[in-house]
Amino acid sequence: MSLETPRLSAVRDSALAAVPTALADLGALVRIPSVAFPGFDRAEVERSAAAVASLAEGLGIFDRVEVTTAAVPETGEQGMPAVLATRAARNGRPTILLYAHHDVQPVGDESLWESAPFEPTVRGGRLYGRGAADDKAGIMAHIGSLRALVDAVGPDFDLGVNLFIEGEEEAGSASFASFLSDNAEALRADVIVVADSGNWDQRTPALTVSLRGNARFTMTVRTLDHASHSGMFGGAVPDAMLATVKLLSTLWDDDGAVAVEGLRERDAVTPEYSEETLRSEAGLPAGVSPIGRDAILSRIWNKPSLTVTGIDAPTVRNASNTLSPEVSVVVSARVAPGQSAREAYEAIEAHLRAHAPFGAELTFRDVETGDPFLVDTAGSAVEHARAALAEGYGVDAVDIGVGGSIPFIADLVEQFPEAQILVTGVEDPHARAHSPNESLHLETFRNALVSEALLLERLDSSGL
Ligand SMILES: [Zn+2]
Repeated sequence: MSLETPRLSAVRDSALAAVPTALADLGALVRIPSVAFPGFDRAEVERSAAAVASLAEGLGIFDRVEVTTAAVPETGEQGMPAVLATRAARNGRPTILLYAHHDVQPVGDESLWESAPFEPTVRGGRLYGRGAADDKAGIMAHIGSLRALVDAVGPDFDLGVNLFIEGEEEAGSASFASFLSDNAEALRADVIVVADSGNWDQRTPALTVSLRGNARFTMTVRTLDHASHSGMFGGAVPDAMLATVKLLSTLWDDDGAVAVEGLRERDAVTPEYSEETLRSEAGLPAGVSPIGRDAILSRIWNKPSLTVTGIDAPTVRNASNTLSPEVSVVVSARVAPGQSAREAYEAIEAHLRAHAPFGAELTFRDVETGDPFLVDTAGSAVEHARAALAEGYGVDAVDIGVGGSIPFIADLVEQFPEAQILVTGVEDPHARAHSPNESLHLETFRNALVSEALLLERLDSSGL
């Protein structure tokens, strides 16, 4: 047990008391459909930025709060509005940068939602809605924990606080790097908390210590100059779909493990995780087998994976007896921690070129890469975070890897190489971020908010 100071217990009480209002504010944010993808209404992203800015203003602790944008380097267009609030540290205390994002994924097929996606709804101890977990709950964990600190110790505390709530994370963070360099002074911090990850389960907190990178690209396979009737030449010339199917099938072996030379794995021990848990959390039916080899979590955290996420070919409705001249696919790779995403992409492209059947012509475009990330767990901020999580949840935190990517973390590390980065979050394995029926486990949210308030108190009272 840690020795609890009166100040710490006051912050804990204030944090618990801050939860209902934080949830009400979260509901109001969920009502704003802030999808930053092209083709969606930018005004909604602006509305959600304004709502977040007014929550930050309401704290009364910042020297300045602004809604601001940065240019996308490739196009020169303005990126999506982010909220930036800053408060200078006093008396030699450190500065903490709190990151979350206020944009959300599109809802997908609305008929799959059990309640309207932008209508926050509580069922069975969870709050349902798009963004209820990813990542508007991350915003409210920051705001709620700061409210608790102010409530318990007053607004004149010493900790420096920068709040950065991005508006285009789900859409690829195109202006993130320019935002960082434009605002480097305002964002500079000793500790960065990225509240956009998950927890081990509903009771057990986690510190995310590794993230896979990603590489995504579009490949076009061409085998014919033009389409023709399959009765005319079928059986004598390859159609593009035949070549594509054969080519893509070389990416995996019979176990479904990635079979691309040059893609690396990370060698690290992972916690116990049963096939039964995998089946329940991923929704894998009894008759369908998992893929890959070795410990299940090492497949997700430490090995590469490849998924075909889109295909342009004649639709079922428009299918006719035609040999398709050309097919395009989107391939999305997860890159193991320790390998550069660019190097992984090059290995995949080389594999595909080497295996193109019938001399099919391949072209590659729209290549996007984001590097994987490994946290240095030796830092003092990690120690403070572990203690705060144990106090807030009543259970020790587990170190986890994440199979997904937060590519901008690589930009953060590059811009602020001395900062200690903590990747935390409010999600649990049932949050279904990015999917229909996304939800937030209310107890996890409470514990996350309390833990963050305790972390702020620790850094404010004792520094790093
Ligand atoms: Zn997110």
